[in-house]
Amino acid sequence: IMVCCGTGCTSSDSPKIIDAFEEQLQKAKLDKEVKVVRTGCFGLCAIGPIVMIFPEGACYSRVTPEDVPEIVHEHLVKGRIVKRLLHMEGDGGDAVTSLADTQFYQHQQRIALRNCGVIDPESIDEYIGADGYLALGNILENKVDPQAVVDAIKASGLRGRGGAGFPTGTKWQFTKDAISPDGIKYVCCNADEGDPGAFMDRSVLEGDPFSVLEAMTIAAYAVGGTDGYIYVRAEYPIAVKRLQKAIEEARDYGLLGKNILGSDFSFDIELRLGAGAFVCGEETALMTSIEGHRGEPRPRPPFPAVKGLFQRPTLLNNVETYANITWILNHGAAEFAAIGTEKSKGTKVFALGGKITNTGLVEVPMGTTLRTIVEDIGGGVPGGKKFKAAQTGGPSGGCIPAQLIDTPIDYDSLTAIGSMMGSGGLIVMDEDNCMVDIAKFFLSFIVDESCGKCAPCRIGTKRLYDLLCKITDGNGTMEDLDTIEELCYHLKESALCALGQSAPNPVLSTLQYFREEYISHVVDKK
Ligand code: SF4
Repeated sequence: IMVCCGTGCTSSDSPKIIDAFEEQLQKAKLDKEVKVVRTGCFGLCAIGPIVMIFPEGACYSRVTPEDVPEIVHEHLVKGRIVKRLLHMEGDGGDAVTSLADTQFYQHQQRIALRNCGVIDPESIDEYIGADGYLALGNILENKVDPQAVVDAIKASGLRGRGGAGFPTGTKWQFTKDAISPDGIKYVCCNADEGDPGAFMDRSVLEGDPFSVLEAMTIAAYAVGGTDGYIYVRAEYPIAVKRLQKAIEEARDYGLLGKNILGSDFSFDIELRLGAGAFVCGEETALMTSIEGHRGEPRPRPPFPAVKGLFQRPTLLNNVETYANITWILNHGAAEFAAIGTEKSKGTKVFALGGKITNTGLVEVPMGTTLRTIVEDIGGGVPGGKKFKAAQTGGPSGGCIPAQLIDTPIDYDSLTAIGSMMGSGGLIVMDEDNCMVDIAKFFLSFIVDESCGKCAPCRIGTKRLYDLLCKITDGNGTMEDLDTIEELCYHLKESALCALGQSAPNPVLSTLQYFREEYISHVVDKK
C-alpha cells in the first residue's frame, strides 16, 4: 500500500490514513503480509490524498481515514476493488487502475521525478534497489577520471533548472579548473525555492532525497569538492526531516564522509536552513547567508566558481539539476541529449497551478507545447471558462497569452516571447483574471522581498507598484503607462541582482499582450 506523504497529501491527513491502515491491517491479521509505504508525491495533487494498492495498481483518490476499514475489508480481505474510491478519468470514464494510463501521465516523461511516488524516501535500501548509488559506485570502483564525469555532463546538454539555464557541465568545468588556496572547494545545492506557486524542488526533496545527495557527491568527485551544503527553506519541514535522515543513513552506509566506499575520496554534506527570504535563492545571497551574514547579493565577478562560499571555489546547482545527474550517468549522455530540443535538452518539472483541473506536479520533455500541458495533462480550465494566459517563471517570468498556447516550452522559445523558464512555476489564468491585477500581485511580492541593498530595486519596485495601484484604482493616465515602461527598462538595466533585474517582467509581458486591459483602467483613454 503506497500512500502519498508529500506536503499536499500530508496536509490532507495522509499520516492519519497510514495510522488507520496499520491499525486495520493488524485487526485483519494482514500486518505481516502487507506493507504500508510512505512515498513522495505522485504528481496528481488535485485528487489527493492518493493511495495505490499493488499488485493491482488500483489508484484510490481523495481517501480519508474513514475509508480505510472498507478498503482493507473489501480490497485486501475479499479481493474486491472499492469502485467508489477509484480515480475515474474524464466524463463517466473508466476507472484508473494504473496512473501511467491517465491523460495526466501519458504526455509526461519522468527523469527528475523518477523515484517520487515509487520508493519510500526514508529508506536508503529502497533507493539502492532503484539503481541508487549505481553511478557513484561505478565511478569509484573504476576510478573514472573526474574530467570524464564533467565531459559526460557537458555532452548531455543539461542546463541549470533553477532559472537562468546556464550549461551545467560548463559550470562544473569552471569549478574544477579553479584553484583553491588551501584545497577546499564547496559543492552546494540551492533548495531555497521561493516563487509563489512553485513546489518542484520541495517534491523532489520529499520524494527522492538520496538522488540529490548522490549527485552532489558525484559533482564533488568531478570538481574536487571537499565540503557540501544544502541550503533549504525552513518552511519545508518534511523535506528538511527527510534530507537530514538521508544524510545520516548515507553516512552510516559509508556513502558520505571519509573514504567513501573505501576509496580515497572524502566528502560530506551539511544542511543550512533558510529563513524564508526570496532573495536567498540568488546564488551570491545564498552563500552570504550560509556564511552567517544577512542574505544580500554581492556583485559578480568574481563568480562563485572562482571565489564563492568563504572565498573558495564553489559549485552551486539547484535541486532539479542535481536530480538529473545520476540518470544521465546511468543511461548515457546521448540518451539524455536525445530528449528535448536542440538547445534545451532533457525534461522540465513544472508545478501546475491556478485555474486548471489537474493541479499538480508534471515533468515533460523540453519542447512540449503549452497547449499539451494545459489541455492534455492539466485537463483544461475548469467550469467551461476560457484559457486566458499562463505565467511561467514566477515573479521573474512573464505571461504567455492564449494566442501563443502552441509555443514549445524551452529556454529560448520562452525568452523570445518575453517570458522565461524560471524554476518551473506554471500558473494558469482564465477569462475572469485581470492581467493588471496579476502584474500587481507579482510586483507586490517583489516589493516585500527586495533586500533593499540597491536603490533601483528598493525604490524602483515600490514606485512601479504605486503606479500600478494608481491604475487599478481608476486614477491612472496614459502618461503613467509610459512612465511604467520607462521605469521597467531602467530597473532591468541597473538593479544589482537578478531579483531586481527580472522584477519588471510580469509588468512588461502583460503590457505587451494585454495593453488594452491597462488602457481600460486609465481615465484618459486616448
Ligand atoms: Fe537587493 Fe533588489 Fe538590489 Fe537584488 S536588485 S540586491 S534584491 S535591492
